[in-house]
Amino acid sequence: MAKRDILIIPDTRLRQKSAAVTAIDASVRALVEDMFETMYEAPGIGLAAIQIGVAARVVTMDLAKKDEPKAPQVFINPEVTWSSDEQATYEEGCLSIPDYYEEVARPKAVKVKFLDLEGKAHEIEADGLLATCLQHEIDHTNGVLFIDHISKLKRDMVMKKFKKAQKRGETTRDAYKDDTPEHQIG
Ligand SMILES: [Zn+2]
Repeated sequence: MAKRDILIIPDTRLRQKSAAVTAIDASVRALVEDMFETMYEAPGIGLAAIQIGVAARVVTMDLAKKDEPKAPQVFINPEVTWSSDEQATYEEGCLSIPDYYEEVARPKAVKVKFLDLEGKAHEIEADGLLATCLQHEIDHTNGVLFIDHISKLKRDMVMKKFKKAQKRGETTRDAYKDDTPEHQIG
């Protein structure tokens, strides 16, 4: 297992659409291990493979609270098959946009189909944090970021700040220093 670097905006790879996994082989299992190590280290509650530069439709997640035992979940080729008309708002963050948080409205509940690491197909109905996190991560597999769901004005400001930080060669952690990390969705 190895911890990998997490891509940060404005890295254009984050805008790439990931390819479906066609065979769950040793390389996919190794990728998943690296993703968990990277996600736990960050720390984040979710991670999409493209965030470590691998354009495959693989998502890892662990929504366990700090005092609860680990509850790792893997979603291969996850796809939203239904979403509720009812919306819910959650203050989201993203490991690829460090220390920036903004409220995002999304469908409150979704149905998602995916394969597990054994290649078995599942379809689950999710709401609450799981629904938010799944939509956030599935967006990543399609090259979409949570800032695409906020106003253009706010999005432009964030992009500008991170582009400047990149130019100055700063670690992007320095782009925002004044927020308390709480909702590092992934
Ligand atoms: Zn994210």
